[in-house]
Amino acid sequence: MSALTAADWLQAWEHSQGLPPPLRPCALLAPLLEGGAEAAERLPLGRRDSQLLALHGALFGPRLSATADCPACGERLELALDCHALRLDAPEPDPQAQAVAWQGRTFHYRLPDSRDLAAMARAGDLDQARALLLRRCLGSDWADDLPADLQAELARAMAEADPQAATELALSCPACGEQWSELFDIGAYLDEAFGQWAERLFDQVHLLASAYGWSEAQILALGPARRARYLARVLA
Ligand SMILES: [Zn+2]
Repeated sequence: MSALTAADWLQAWEHSQGLPPPLRPCALLAPLLEGGAEAAERLPLGRRDSQLLALHGALFGPRLSATADCPACGERLELALDCHALRLDAPEPDPQAQAVAWQGRTFHYRLPDSRDLAAMARAGDLDQARALLLRRCLGSDWADDLPADLQAELARAMAEADPQAATELALSCPACGEQWSELFDIGAYLDEAFGQWAERLFDQVHLLASAYGWSEAQILALGPARRARYLARVLA
């Protein structure tokens, strides 16, 4: 991870911005995986999110800050989260070899990945999106519409096999005592964190290029500690 430079990460982030939102986090993981973007897009979602949490920890530190609004009284909660604490200690699931029994039949399925999420985003509504996801994961085994109870059984089995795929936060409102849970999406969070990091980097390049006449490549090659020292002098 440390072998990658700021220029490498900037390039990965820039590429990610041209992709549909569900695939953007995969472009950020791609430089770390042997199979690149293809491998990242094929990771089961929980495995992907576990690696995204680790990536945030390595690049930006383990602390995550988010907000949530109380559904009862509207109080805004400031959440201080931790990448390590959000990573579940779950065994790595086999994405392909999953099965569920329903009405005397066994259905084999694979775990959902980012390409399934991208396909879901193109569906008309939530029900269609859910049915599309399940059909994709079941493969050619089932051509008709899936009965609702089979859909529910599949969704339950998928969540059990890959618990990190949905990171739920148990929240409680300090103002009114309401308790509820909310999903935390590390993919969207990291997408935003990278965007803010890139903007800060562009500011630094702009200031140093204006002051010293160096090129972007030269400035990025300095590394964060030396960039900071020159910036301190420019801004003094
Ligand atoms: Zn409240």
